[in-house]
Parts: sequence; C-alpha cells; structure tokens
Amino acid sequence: MELSKRQQQIIEIVKGNGPITGENIANRLNLTRATLRPDLAILTMSGFLDARPRVGYFFTGKTGSELLAEKIRKYKVHEFQQVPIAIKESVSVYDAISTMFLEDVGTLFVVDDKSCLTGVLSRKDLLRASIGQPDLNLVPVHIIMTRMPNIAVCRRDDLLVDAAHMLITKEIDGMPVVKDTDAGLEIIGRITKTTMTKVLVELTKDRV
Ligand code: ADP
Repeated sequence: MELSKRQQQIIEIVKGNGPITGENIANRLNLTRATLRPDLAILTMSGFLDARPRVGYFFTGKTGSELLAEKIRKYKVHEFQQVPIAIKESVSVYDAISTMFLEDVGTLFVVDDKSCLTGVLSRKDLLRASIGQPDLNLVPVHIIMTRMPNIAVCRRDDLLVDAAHMLITKEIDGMPVVKDTDAGLEIIGRITKTTMTKVLVELTKDRV
C-alpha cells in the first residue's frame, strides 16, 4: 500500500516518541484528533502501528514489504481455488482436446468410476499423443495421462504459497485440490499459475 505524506509523518512521530497518544500526535501536527482518526485506523489495521488502550501508539518496526509477506503467507488454497474440470479415463484424446477448448483450461483431471482422481492431462500430453496418430477418437486418455501416485496435489487448508512452491519445483501448470475419502481422492478445486497471477493483481488493488 502507498502511504500518504501525513501517514508517513505520523509513523515518524510514533517511531521517535512512542508510546504516544492520538491526542499528542495530533498536537504535534497541529491537527485535531478527529482529523487524524482515519489515518491512525489505516496505520493500525495495516500493521505499521500498534495501539494499546490508555497507553498509546507504538511503532511495530515492520516494513511495508514485511507486512505484505505476512499477509501473503496467511492465504489458504480454498480462498483462491478455481473450479476443476474432470473427465473419465475412457474419454478419447479427441474429446479431451474438445473439453480443454470448451472449458478454457490448460489442465484436465481424470477420474475413475467413483469420481476419484487417477490422472492429469496437460496441453503437451495431448499434443504429444496427437502427433502421427490418424484417429484420436481411438485413443483413450488413460493411456497417455500422468497417473497416480505421481500426481502433485494440494488440500483446501494448505498455504497458497506452498502450492505455488510446488508448481515451481514440479514444473507444472496446475494441481488438483483434493479431499481424502474412503474411495480415494475427490477433486474439489484447481490451483494453477493463473491463480497466482490473479493473486498478484488482487494485491495491487488492496488499500490496506
Ligand atoms: P504442459 O505440458 O502443457 O507444459 P505442465 O507443465 O503442467 O503442462 O505438464 C507437464 C507434465 O506434467 C505433463 O506430462 C503433465 O501430465 C504432468 N503434470 C501436470 N500437472 C501435474 C500434477 N499436478 N502432478 C503431476 N504431474 C503433472
């Protein structure tokens, strides 16, 4: 977040004189307490200052980038996960390609008869399978997919930053968000590199 000139002045005053009451900060700036109230609220909510009743304001010592990192580290997968697109193992490569276009996704998940995760299909998996193959209707996706147990997954309460780390280390574009059931892994969401780009854009919109 971008601090106003007055907010920066407040931080300097609190840094040098804390703990200090709102009244005293206002006096030093020749402003009324009421005028300062919104600025103090913003600085406290965003973590630059800490307020203790009957004592006053303290400087927390945290920089803007530390506060931002703290905020990102709290994000959970379920807050950002998108809708997953899954197909059955018997679906043909031709139909998988059609689904990828129709649903506008780059990664498809493959499930068994119990709707449990068995595989993943990327764009390149489908391209590779298409080269030199005269009839894509004859090839079922289970022949070409990356299959369990070699699939990287995440769960709804995982930290988003851990999911991002996994996408990078495994060199993949996306991951299913799964839930453990007696039958296997049920797919409840999708986390992709696009999810991470959206988070980046969201962060720049944030006021506090
Ligand atoms: P692309 O191949 O289109 O660049 P990816 O980088 O996501 O897309 O996929 C690379 C390979 O990794 C593919 O063979 C794909 O099946 C596999 N893959 C994709 N997602 C996962 C995942 N979550 N876990 C394991 N393997 C995956």
